[in-house]
Amino acid sequence: PSIDVEHILRSLNPQQLKAVKFDPSVPLQILAGPGSGKTKVLISRIVHLILSHKISPSSICAVTFTNKAANEMRERLTKIIGKSQTSSLQMGTFHSLCARFLRMYSHHVDLETNFTICDADESKKLIAALLKPYKEYIVENDLTLAEGQVASVISKAKAKGYSAATYCQEIIPSLKNTSKSKLSLDPTIQEKKCVEQIMAEVYTGYEQILKQNNALDFDDLLIYGVRLFSQHSESVLWCKHILVDEFQDTNTMQYELMKSIAIKRCITIVGDPDQSIYGWRSAEVINLSRMREDFSNTHQILLEQNYRSTAAILRASLAIVAEDKKRIQKSLHTSNPLGFSPFIGQFESEKEEAAFIAFEIKRCAANMGDVLRWGDFVVLLRFNALSRPIESALQKEGIPCRILGGHKFFERMEVKDILSYLQLADNPDFNPAFIRAIKSPARGTGDKTLSEIASRAADLKISQLQLVENIHDNKTPDIKPPIKRKAASFVQTIRFLRKLDKENVLPSEMIRKLVNSINYEDYLRKTQQDWESRWENVQELITFASEVESDVTSTTKKLPLEHLLNEAEETTGVAEERQSILRQFLQASMLSSEGDNQSEEEGKEKVTLSTCHAAKGLEWPVVIVPSVDQDTFPFYRTEDIEEERRLLFVACTRAQSLLYISYSLRRQVAGKTKQKKLSDFVSVIHDKNEGYFSHDVPRFLPQDRAVISNVLRRPLPDETDVLKKLAEM
Ligand code: ATP
Ligand code: MG
Repeated sequence: PSIDVEHILRSLNPQQLKAVKFDPSVPLQILAGPGSGKTKVLISRIVHLILSHKISPSSICAVTFTNKAANEMRERLTKIIGKSQTSSLQMGTFHSLCARFLRMYSHHVDLETNFTICDADESKKLIAALLKPYKEYIVENDLTLAEGQVASVISKAKAKGYSAATYCQEIIPSLKNTSKSKLSLDPTIQEKKCVEQIMAEVYTGYEQILKQNNALDFDDLLIYGVRLFSQHSESVLWCKHILVDEFQDTNTMQYELMKSIAIKRCITIVGDPDQSIYGWRSAEVINLSRMREDFSNTHQILLEQNYRSTAAILRASLAIVAEDKKRIQKSLHTSNPLGFSPFIGQFESEKEEAAFIAFEIKRCAANMGDVLRWGDFVVLLRFNALSRPIESALQKEGIPCRILGGHKFFERMEVKDILSYLQLADNPDFNPAFIRAIKSPARGTGDKTLSEIASRAADLKISQLQLVENIHDNKTPDIKPPIKRKAASFVQTIRFLRKLDKENVLPSEMIRKLVNSINYEDYLRKTQQDWESRWENVQELITFASEVESDVTSTTKKLPLEHLLNEAEETTGVAEERQSILRQFLQASMLSSEGDNQSEEEGKEKVTLSTCHAAKGLEWPVVIVPSVDQDTFPFYRTEDIEEERRLLFVACTRAQSLLYISYSLRRQVAGKTKQKKLSDFVSVIHDKNEGYFSHDVPRFLPQDRAVISNVLRRPLPDETDVLKKLAEM
């Protein structure tokens, strides 16, 4: 059936329509505030490219901020143009796109195709091990140098494009120069120098270890991606149209990546400088103007109408962000009804605050039950730890809730245990997987034996698995015969998995066979109190594997013919098929962003608890932002107050109909009672007495239901009845 493009585009306003139809060959920036339809325009532009310009979906590539957002985008597109069109679209985060292409073209950038992706947790462990030899020195000199801190410095250096070598060359000498003149005067510089020195050494070691283990961390994916795309862009990448959402939160490497891809191609980006909230992860909003310099004919389109929120919510949110005097003014209006003034509540303690939140959610649902469901409420927190009192208050009231991004499935012990076996089967050089797998279940190899294995393997320049494979040689450390026997059976297990992989046995089946052969359920039962729920997670991993399997088989089949005929030295279809399904499954697991595994259906009937960061791009009818006090918003450890203000702005602008802001005068922090006051971000505008906020909770009158249903574009039940009756007549 033919799809009527004009009909689809009819719901857009003139500015949006202009952006959708704008000449694809001119670089385009769509800049606009929250809820103005940026994401909607991006999706419509893809539809327009496919249906009106007859562009093949396989030559369109959309970059989103999370994998979850990519899935949502694909779903929305599938609803409009059907699965046959969307299955070959390239969609994902910068990281997942890089991973995909690096696998196919690893030889171009001097990588092994079976590299393992090392997640943040794994990186931290490697760094902790590298820091160990310095521990004594660090303590003696009273230096502040925790592994998390080192990991973040290294990651920031990488995000800016510094390799260990350039980091040592450029950062360290600049420090030496200052220290030469001031060294004797300023002891803090001396200290800083030691810290920097250690950082540089650890970074160098870390780089080597990743190389030896045939592993890439998340930052490496981008670094190698830039290398691949800038040197081999034409033969490697068949996409012609690149569209990027949430561009304000790209870092330097991501920008470089975009640039290397976008040259000679068509690029559309959407973003909002007021919503840049990832500076702490090296995002740089300046990339917006960098793009205008690098692509001199870049055209800008502004969208100015907000469709998401009531006028009262939009007005208060804009007042908050307007206090940032350095920001560039943008206009944003709405023709939505005024609605209720956002509520601002002060409480004696966090317990009272949490009890109020639970009570108020119940009251709203009771009054507006025909318009609002549990899934329509979200509580947005500055950081995860604030959720505890709220969770228990909701529980007390019998309100079901779920935590978005809090439930880190792929960080669970049992999930990582199973993955480590599969990783090792795929990449025998990846020692972190060896160390994890051989200990779970325990095989009598204690820390001492393991560190002996590690150092012997390092001496021989072989992987730890390889060393154990030859455990009966004289080269291996002094290991007692029973342990040797167990180690040999471990090697057998890995070989067994490798054989299954060669025979193209599906990962879901491999996991089933693996857990049987190592008696994993039994091991959990014997060692873990909550073994049942952990075993459930193993089952869930099998489900995830089968999902990946069906995705992989449906997309590889659909690779377009034109690319098989491509002149490129290697055709994508062939390269793609060469990747074992196990490898593709491992990649999907490592890239799965937080909370991705949670099914949307499950979320619909529950109140959501989320961090403000994880809520980016999303919307809910009712938004509650607790703990808006002067230590939390701005977070007292922040280096950038304005970024904190924008974060509050992002939180408030998620709301469609109702917005609550609250704080408590006293809060328990690490067992001590602390006095708190309302965040300046709010009090400054509240003190202006312009009626931005109200101290009264909304009184729901019958006509209010109409206002809320109007903004949500949900018909009231009696309206539906009327329509039904009319239809029946
Ligand atoms: P954010 O900056 O928060 O990511 P955004 O600019 O991407 O917001 P969207 O999420 O695309 O905004 O749109 C916000 C809401 O407004 C969505 O529910 C969308 O369906 C709706 N919307 C956008 N444009 C229109 C329109 N022209 N008519 C009706 N609804 C619209
Ligand atoms: Mg958006």
